[in-house]
Amino acid sequence: MALRRHPKGTQARILLSSVFGPYAQDDEYGSRAINPMELYHNQVTRVQGPFSLRMFHRSWGIMMIQANISAPSTVMDFPSLDQFTQEIRDNEYDIIGITSIVPNVGKVRKMCSLIRHYQPRCTIVVGGHVSNLPGIEDRIDADHIVRGDGIAWFRRFLGQNEAEPVVHPEIYSGFGGRAMGMKLSRRPQDTAAVLIPSVGCPMGCNFCSTSAMFGGKGNFVNFYETGWELFNIMSRMEERMKVHSFFVMDENFLLHRKRALELLDLMKHHKKSWSLDVFSSARVLQSYSMEELTGLGLSWVWMGLEGANSTYSKLSRIDTHELVKDLQAHGIRVLGSSIIGLETHTPDKMDEIIDYAVSHDTDFHQFMLYTPVPGTPLYEEHKNKGTLLEDVDLADTHGQFAFNFRHPHISREQSGEFLLRAFKRDFEVNGPSILRITNTLLQGYARYKNHGEARIRERFRREGRVLPIGYASALWAMEKYFRSNNPSLLPKITSLQAKLAAQFGMSTRFAAPIGGRIVHSALRREEKRLQQGWKYQPATFVEKKNWEPASHPSGLTSWTPVPEPES
Ligand code: SF4
Repeated sequence: MALRRHPKGTQARILLSSVFGPYAQDDEYGSRAINPMELYHNQVTRVQGPFSLRMFHRSWGIMMIQANISAPSTVMDFPSLDQFTQEIRDNEYDIIGITSIVPNVGKVRKMCSLIRHYQPRCTIVVGGHVSNLPGIEDRIDADHIVRGDGIAWFRRFLGQNEAEPVVHPEIYSGFGGRAMGMKLSRRPQDTAAVLIPSVGCPMGCNFCSTSAMFGGKGNFVNFYETGWELFNIMSRMEERMKVHSFFVMDENFLLHRKRALELLDLMKHHKKSWSLDVFSSARVLQSYSMEELTGLGLSWVWMGLEGANSTYSKLSRIDTHELVKDLQAHGIRVLGSSIIGLETHTPDKMDEIIDYAVSHDTDFHQFMLYTPVPGTPLYEEHKNKGTLLEDVDLADTHGQFAFNFRHPHISREQSGEFLLRAFKRDFEVNGPSILRITNTLLQGYARYKNHGEARIRERFRREGRVLPIGYASALWAMEKYFRSNNPSLLPKITSLQAKLAAQFGMSTRFAAPIGGRIVHSALRREEKRLQQGWKYQPATFVEKKNWEPASHPSGLTSWTPVPEPES
């Protein structure tokens, strides 16, 4: 059915909100202590205690929508229930959009009922991963469920031209970062800007909810077709936001080879010394030479390892151990992702399976339970086979707790235990991620600090700036900490300390014990606080746009783009 334009068009007053907090606690609306609003602590460094990387990320989807509609709009990110209620009680809106993941459907239900109470004439729009939940229309009281591209949908609903170029908002990738009890630098030059070239992933792995949300296998939505468009966006962000790094939020950025190589050419031509953090499958990564990856500034990659003997084509005939080692030898930090509980996994083989994953010694390791997330092909498969567990609360269907389906060999209780075992083994054997990234950064620095191309040299020197004092102090604190906690890590720590000292000389030798004492006491303080049940909560953001006449949604006026190259 064709979508009927909102009667007020671009004059409609819009509120776009993420679900309310507090998070990281068990409550009736679907918050779970085990499922905090933190990407890393949730599913990557969750057992690393005070070493865990703590950081929040904004709700980029609603920020993208806000940047691309001309209607007056407000974004509320991470409101409390009271703040959200007050906003809709005290301000009149024509449209309220809510974004959510599936486990938070209870919060969406609550927000919809509040909107119906305070603003009965308002149109309620729900998007994000929760929109893929089969039968969502009956679970919540919304007017529109938007699957896939929210920018195009909102433009259509408001009567705007859908084909207008997508304006990329200026967003810092993380906030509230801390590790080892220390606040991470908030200076723009130490932070990455978010870059979203496309959404979805055409690889279409059967369990992947992101791919499913944007059409599944063979489908994705490209916001920017050319490397030139990306280059201009990145140059603008560099100038306005003072960043050198980009967190490329695109599930398979390197898959779009022509675009990536065009970006590389422009980076070379304009001598851009940028760092790129990307997501990529192993097969696609291997289709580039190391020279190309280094030239593109690849400094961090999130890559699916999935599991020993997995049958995903993105991994076929690839030696992932060799690949990880090679990337790290060139200073590229690797976040490997493994699945616990593939259909072939059996309890007697789990230690072997976990050891296989851990033996990659990636800088970070995400472990996830094989989970039929509602809306994915895997979910349909289990539904048709009748192997979904009926009584599992959606708030617990996030891959970090327990199975939501009947596995042929592993029970629901065992699944959670194996998952935790994997995280613990990785931490025990490979140590904190901060230790591992120190090693990778140092390898890159030593290899490229005198590289013939100035922009490459500059990047590695910039990334290596934290090594002689910051990371050396962290290693000193780690050595002290693990002497009593896990002495098996000491050889790794001390050998790295020696390498740092050999590379940076006296400055490191003198600075490490002084800085190390400060880090060690912060680490102990943090550990104590966490043991006492301290929870991290994101700050609340309220951002308004287009409420004044004649303001442009992007706010971009002073920046001059590079002309499009002739093809
Ligand atoms: S390659 Fe990664 S992003 Fe793409 S479908 Fe598979 S799991 Fe999803």
